[in-house]
Amino acid sequence: MADECVNVCVRCRPFNDRERDNGSTCVLNFDLRTGTVAIQNPKADADVKTFSFDSAFDWNASQVDVYNRTAKRIVESVLNGFNGTVFVYGQTGSGKTFSMQGVNGNREQQGIIPQSFNEIFSHIARTPAKQYLVRVSYLEIYNEEIRDLLVTVQGNKKPVSLELKENPEKGVYVKDLSSKIVKSVEEMEELMFTGNRNRSVGATLMNAVSSRSHSIFTINVECCETNSKTNEQHFFAGKLHLVDLAGSERQSKTGATGDRLKEASKINLSLSALGNCISALVDGKSTHVPYRDSKLTRLLQDSLGGNSRTLMLATLSPASFNYDETLSTLRYANRAK
Ligand code: ADP
Ligand code: MG
Repeated sequence: MADECVNVCVRCRPFNDRERDNGSTCVLNFDLRTGTVAIQNPKADADVKTFSFDSAFDWNASQVDVYNRTAKRIVESVLNGFNGTVFVYGQTGSGKTFSMQGVNGNREQQGIIPQSFNEIFSHIARTPAKQYLVRVSYLEIYNEEIRDLLVTVQGNKKPVSLELKENPEKGVYVKDLSSKIVKSVEEMEELMFTGNRNRSVGATLMNAVSSRSHSIFTINVECCETNSKTNEQHFFAGKLHLVDLAGSERQSKTGATGDRLKEASKINLSLSALGNCISALVDGKSTHVPYRDSKLTRLLQDSLGGNSRTLMLATLSPASFNYDETLSTLRYANRAK
């Protein structure tokens, strides 16, 4: 399992007040040892479906547990010059941002992104013989348009949309995307906060809902190692994408019309394009991975498949109220396995 290039895990959050108030029952049953989840249809006693994953976490799992058993090895491989991607997938309110970012100002509740920062800078501090350069960029994809989250929105101008380009040297890249050099965990956190702020301001200006955009926090780690005997230098670089996907809920249920519906179909397009790419990679027999079908998959092309490592963390609600969405999340995650 440790050598697989795609890992799929699920995590269930605790009940929230709304679910408690509407009398929801718990539809999920975990076997943490085997990574198995059983889901009970609340309307049909005999209907229980079972899914197995690389790991399954219930509401008792801590942020540290989740990080150590999921993203940690990807971060380590990035420090050794490989590319890696971590996705969180699930309906709005299921715990994607909690898992990725955690709770601001609460060390115990840090999510995958800040824990990766700690890992990267403590590795650098432990390895004085190598020189590192760490750069960060942060963007969002909304309605198939790309926006730089590290550029602060001026006044009430609408955010600029960036172009996706491709050349033989750089591969696929975002033209004019900013990339900031960081030298400490604190500097990196500051950029994450700036980006989060810009994300919500931008969403308000565009009269949009941030749960409908995909955000990608990218950390580039370049390393230079000098051989003390020969003085020869050896360079390598790894790239880590931390992706908080748009809510996976089906839009038909939300009664979207007009622009909202158009926007919804584009969100679903990127999510289904991603599902298709991952399942083609996992299948191993497919000769064609359909990266070109969405901006999200084009952008992540060099970090999905090949030598890269990918983690999909699907987040779940335990409540009968969300049964349909939870079942569809489990099916999506199961396909990626
Ligand atoms: P999403 O990003 O998927 O829309 P959030 O991460 O914002 O969902 O989570 C919705 C709410 O549930 C937040 O208040 C969050 O703090 C809480 N929450 C999510 N997952 C957990 C968890 N594992 N433990 C405790 N609270 C959680
Ligand atoms: Mg969120």
